[in-house]
Amino acid sequence: MDKGIAMLLGLQSWILYRVHVQPDRIDVYTGRPRKEARCPACGSVNRSVYDRCRQWQQKLHTWCNGLPVFLWVRPRRFRCRDCRKVFTERLPGLRPWARRTERAEAQLLEELARRSFRGAAEATGTSPNTLRRLLLRRVKDGVGLERALQDLPEVVLGIDEHSFRGRDMMITVTCVAPKRRLLALLPHDRVRLLEQFLRKLPASVRGKIRAVCIDLKEGWRRAVERALPGVPVVADPFHVIQDANRRVDEARRVEQEVTGQRIPRWPLVKNEENLTDQQAAQLAAIRKRHKNVAHFHWVKEQLRDVYRASSREEAAAILDRLILNAQEAEDAALVQWGRTLRRWRTAILAFHEHQASNGYTEGVHTKIKLIKRLSYGFRNREAYVRKMLLAFLPLAGLTARPHFLT
Ligand SMILES: [Zn+2]
Repeated sequence: MDKGIAMLLGLQSWILYRVHVQPDRIDVYTGRPRKEARCPACGSVNRSVYDRCRQWQQKLHTWCNGLPVFLWVRPRRFRCRDCRKVFTERLPGLRPWARRTERAEAQLLEELARRSFRGAAEATGTSPNTLRRLLLRRVKDGVGLERALQDLPEVVLGIDEHSFRGRDMMITVTCVAPKRRLLALLPHDRVRLLEQFLRKLPASVRGKIRAVCIDLKEGWRRAVERALPGVPVVADPFHVIQDANRRVDEARRVEQEVTGQRIPRWPLVKNEENLTDQQAAQLAAIRKRHKNVAHFHWVKEQLRDVYRASSREEAAAILDRLILNAQEAEDAALVQWGRTLRRWRTAILAFHEHQASNGYTEGVHTKIKLIKRLSYGFRNREAYVRKMLLAFLPLAGLTARPHFLT
């Protein structure tokens, strides 16, 4: 049989007896070159064939021009010369009893990485359930972290959460520097789960962690400090500024209610240097008429200066002045804000040392949202986690190593 065909089908180590092309499928009858087989009971190598399985077995192997290609195999049986047991030979790229070869499984997963369960099932002539079972079996629920980070001597982890379903959240763990990659999705957002995950990291990975970037969640910070003592926490700058804008906007709404006057939002939450002339005029008016709102706005802009400062010392000076100022304010919400900033002082300033943010982690969440929209929602947490990992990670690092037993 043509060697080219064998190569196209990834069957170089087989003998092809006959290829039968039909309108809806291709059947390939194959055999193994005469070779020894190892007894699974005692491990001794045997050459004497006892007989063959009575029936030809069909195994889905690959797709060719959209047609499924089935291998037909008839494994040989051997009688072990040492322990006298009769055993069936293992075939390369095929688990015993499997209905598909490992090549077919890898291709199904590749298809699934790009599409929804339903889409991938239709394209490959399988069922969503088959794909779900395959995903759960072949894709581990986390990456081998040691392997995923083996090329990096030092890493900064990013931790953030995203919505699995409505308010049901999951934790995303990424590597944000020096290279960006998704590492794990934890199936809930409980602090204990995060702490457990960090504690269970292999020692070789823990030793590499230079910093951990999180948003302003006290529970998470304490979990990181408990699980990774001595590792600095970096407050994600985007979350810090987002939180600042939320507080400014809240002050604006309170002031609106109290005074009955409409106060525009954009002049307050937009970066001051990007305001249009009209917005700048509106901001000037707010400063005159609504001193308290203007005070919140000042704190926010100062906080941005903390990030724009050229050194950690300069940033610390701005931050300390602003914390003092906020804590002495008359507005309770501003005092509260000052306290929060004081608690996060080290983590905010740590940005100057590590330059880390969760921008990449946010990007992961955007892609996850897109996949969810294409997939008509997920009910099963396990399938969700692994489907997302499948979409982000190179297949080679993710799937169980195919075993080649000859
Ligand atoms: Zn034996």
